[in-house]
Amino acid sequence: MIITIDGPAGAGKSTVSKALAIRLDYRYLDTGAMYRAVTLVALETGEEPIAVAQGDTWSARLDDPALRSDAVDAAVSAVSRQPEVREALRGQQRAILAQGNAVAEGRDIGSVVWPHAELKVWLDASPEERRRRRAAERGAEAGDVALERDRQDAAQMLVPEDSVRVETDGLTITEVIERIVALVEGQA
Ligand code: C5P
Repeated sequence: MIITIDGPAGAGKSTVSKALAIRLDYRYLDTGAMYRAVTLVALETGEEPIAVAQGDTWSARLDDPALRSDAVDAAVSAVSRQPEVREALRGQQRAILAQGNAVAEGRDIGSVVWPHAELKVWLDASPEERRRRRAAERGAEAGDVALERDRQDAAQMLVPEDSVRVETDGLTITEVIERIVALVEGQA
């Protein structure tokens, strides 16, 4: 089964998707990390993002803490708006998902990358809550940066028509995971 977890920055996608993948013993695909990796390598090498995305130098770098740096946060939206970058990474994402059971998080997974996913979740939270969470993790400014990134990402944030919206304000991570596990069981 493929489960997609899309939504804006700070909605809790990464925490929830990782925990869900572990719980189900599924693969976990963090597509945001792929866009971040292309951005980081382009910044470091001066190469065009499209050349990076079409090559394979970024693939070994997905666990690099520099992926979450302020420089990458500031540049990643512009990189991910490039259609050729998206096409290259979507191809990689589809190849991974074709291997079967996975939880995939991003912005366009249920809508464009894998529209036949058995379960599509749109994970959301109010702007105040998303700012508060990011600020708690990474400092006051990070909260504003996350909301600004959402504005820049608007074109690629595509709510799948047949997704289940899970609003996470006021829920603990455990409650969110339980809610999604119940949805998975409903599919089984
Ligand atoms: O999920 P995360 O915040 O790590 O994503 C980083 C950036 O990658 C987003 O701000 C967005 O610009 C881009 N992205 C995207 N499509 C995806 C996942 C991420 O455009 N499926």
